[in-house]
Amino acid sequence: MSNKYVLVINSGSSSLKFAVINAENGEAPVTGLGECFGLPEAVISWKHQGEKSEEKITSDGDHHQYAINRIVGLMESLGFDRDIVAVGHRIVHGGEKFTSTVRIDQKVLKEIESLSDLAPLHNPAGAKGIEAAMAAFPSLPQFAVFDTAFHQTMPKKAFTGAISNELYKEYGIRRYGFHGTSHYYVSREAAKMLNKPIEQSSFISVHLGNGASVCAISNGKSVDTSMGFTPLAGLMMGTRSGDLDPGVIEFLIKKGWSTEKVFETLNKKSGFLGVSGLTSDARGILEAMEEGHEDAKLAFEVFTYRVAKYIGSYLIPLQNLDAIIFTGGIGENSLPIRREILNNLALLGFKEDVAGNEAARFGDSGVIAHSKTLDAVAMAIPTNEEFVIAQQSVELL
Ligand code: ADP
Repeated sequence: MSNKYVLVINSGSSSLKFAVINAENGEAPVTGLGECFGLPEAVISWKHQGEKSEEKITSDGDHHQYAINRIVGLMESLGFDRDIVAVGHRIVHGGEKFTSTVRIDQKVLKEIESLSDLAPLHNPAGAKGIEAAMAAFPSLPQFAVFDTAFHQTMPKKAFTGAISNELYKEYGIRRYGFHGTSHYYVSREAAKMLNKPIEQSSFISVHLGNGASVCAISNGKSVDTSMGFTPLAGLMMGTRSGDLDPGVIEFLIKKGWSTEKVFETLNKKSGFLGVSGLTSDARGILEAMEEGHEDAKLAFEVFTYRVAKYIGSYLIPLQNLDAIIFTGGIGENSLPIRREILNNLALLGFKEDVAGNEAARFGDSGVIAHSKTLDAVAMAIPTNEEFVIAQQSVELL
């Protein structure tokens, strides 16, 4: 093994995803997940060359630290310990401070912790993962890759809320945007596939997973994106409402709802789940629709209509368009959802390439539609955030 491997860690409040990534070609010989931290069901599982293993976590101690220590043992037993050159952490919020990937030292760690105000669920968990990894791999350099960093190129008119400027100055309330690593990766892949220099390209990247966002990318830079101060804004998602009249919040609170209940509803019981009353999972929505479930059909229609509206509006910050890029679990795999979004874009001249749309599934990239009107294509491209984290960590080494 002469290749450079990076251990990529995505630490959540009660889970920790990890992967060993080859920084040259993106291959992932080991992937794993620790979940249900803090609960009796806590478990860590991993896959190495197709073979799955699972262990219960019975420790009374901190489960993040336990999981990382277990990963150290795993790296040794699988023979990766000498080939891992860095640890790359996915961190949700970099505020205005972090505009690109950075090497982590005590100062950076403190800054990530201090941004917890903006991402109370995510940044403390990310910081915990960093601390555990620094203790477990003291000789390895560690890097932080931020979900928000790619969007720090947005012009002020795109990130400023139409509210008192004091709220920005005092609390940092503005659009930050998320999914940056994914939008960055697929735009670079699209430029390669179209044989265009990224510095002379225009894309609308549409990441549709459980979370979903659209990003306008001009000459390789994010110029607008649909998630906002939090990942609740923008598109309808698996369980999140996306854009909503803020007046609804006041209305519900006056009806006696607590703030927690309102936001629990908007974050966890809305989107596909809320509209269908059935499931947050796009596959479940499509299956129920085929069986004639009316509200599943409505969820499908609201979702696809709203994605198309965002795509249409994101022509505004671009001078022209080379491609609309679909990615994320839904964008990469769901032919009917992509088809319906394209149908909604008929005015822009998009005609489905039926064979292309059918071929671009299950991890294959390809052109799925053409527009003569805009001289543009639509493409499906599988995202690979871990690969970006590995590459950028190695570049900074
Ligand atoms: P996350 O945002 O949690 O990383 P993913 O990007 O994995 O999520 O996307 C999950 C979504 O992708 C789910 O709604 C799932 O139903 C959908 N999905 C995955 N495969 C397919 C498929 N073949 N057809 C339709 N939807 C799919």
